[in-house]
Amino acid sequence: MNDIAKATRRRRRILWNRIFSYRIRRYFVLVQKLIREGMLKKEEYIELLDTYTEDTINQLSEIAVQYRKRYYGNKVYTRGLIEFTNYCKNNCFYCGIRGKNRNIIRYRLTKEEILECCKSGYELGFRTFVLQGGEDIYFNDEKLCDIIKSIKQRYPDCAITLSVGERSYESYKALKEAGADRYLLRHETAMESHYCKLHPREMSLENRKHCLYQLKELGYQVGAGFMVGSPHQTNECLAEDLIFLKELEPDMVGIGPFLPHHDTPFAKEEKGSVSKTLLLLAVVRIILPKVLLPATTALGTAEGDGREKGLAVGANVVMPNLSPLSKREQYALYDNKIHQNAEAAENIKVLERKVKELGYGLAYERGDAV
Ligand code: SF4
Repeated sequence: MNDIAKATRRRRRILWNRIFSYRIRRYFVLVQKLIREGMLKKEEYIELLDTYTEDTINQLSEIAVQYRKRYYGNKVYTRGLIEFTNYCKNNCFYCGIRGKNRNIIRYRLTKEEILECCKSGYELGFRTFVLQGGEDIYFNDEKLCDIIKSIKQRYPDCAITLSVGERSYESYKALKEAGADRYLLRHETAMESHYCKLHPREMSLENRKHCLYQLKELGYQVGAGFMVGSPHQTNECLAEDLIFLKELEPDMVGIGPFLPHHDTPFAKEEKGSVSKTLLLLAVVRIILPKVLLPATTALGTAEGDGREKGLAVGANVVMPNLSPLSKREQYALYDNKIHQNAEAAENIKVLERKVKELGYGLAYERGDAV
């Protein structure tokens, strides 16, 4: 190697070291600020998301786990998920049960079938039932209120979480008065331009947010959330999501990687990153330390031990499936959705063992937000 080549190599090495040490310093400043202030500015979130490494996830998850322990000890709350209808009037581009998908078998559970799910769930120890469905106009307020009242009458010590989409203020009020305690309504993305790329024209981010604030006003424990890696998502979108969550201060946040469904306009899109989902779970635990944070089914579907990894970065909720076995495959929001083994409520002991191995304990109580 001649002198010129040697000098060029030396200059390159010096420059690289400067960049590298700047990055480490910068990254250290961002993490410290996140811990100290519980939030970052939009451009700082973007920088963190642009430059994160496995090391970042490890460091943030250490803090996240400390926060979770401070408020919830080593408890992992269980929720029994009842997917009671896969009819939906909407057509979100990412969703396998969208109204326009003619290739799935539609079903609705009767009130008796829902109560039967609750009965098995109660016997297994569940004290929260999550009633989840598409936006199915068949389940008007009268029918839903009747179901809620019947569950509450039989199981007054249980909490009811609804996840049935956008409804009117009057409807949310009636459901609350009937006995519903919590409401999950993922905002999916807090950036208007991105929202329009995931949803048809008749749906709006403005109404979604409006619903979330109405639910809060009515006294529900509210859950928002978003997909990681959905088509057209940028780190700027994710930064907006984090800012919105901090403003809304929900009691629950559902985050999972985007997973495509073969009968949707997004069939050929890439699935979302598990490691980025883990990073965001840790960040959410830090910016909202008391939040109830599920290790989602999507995370477990994306990677075999995804749910365990979710718990290791600050999640503290699991939602095993209580729906009738014959219907579980038909509630396919995305391809290959897991619904067996530890995901199935009847196998709760398998989940209990796995959670114990991680140093936590499954908690069979209502598990309200603190
Ligand atoms: S995401 Fe929800 S509202 Fe959208 S199509 Fe699927 S079930 Fe319907």
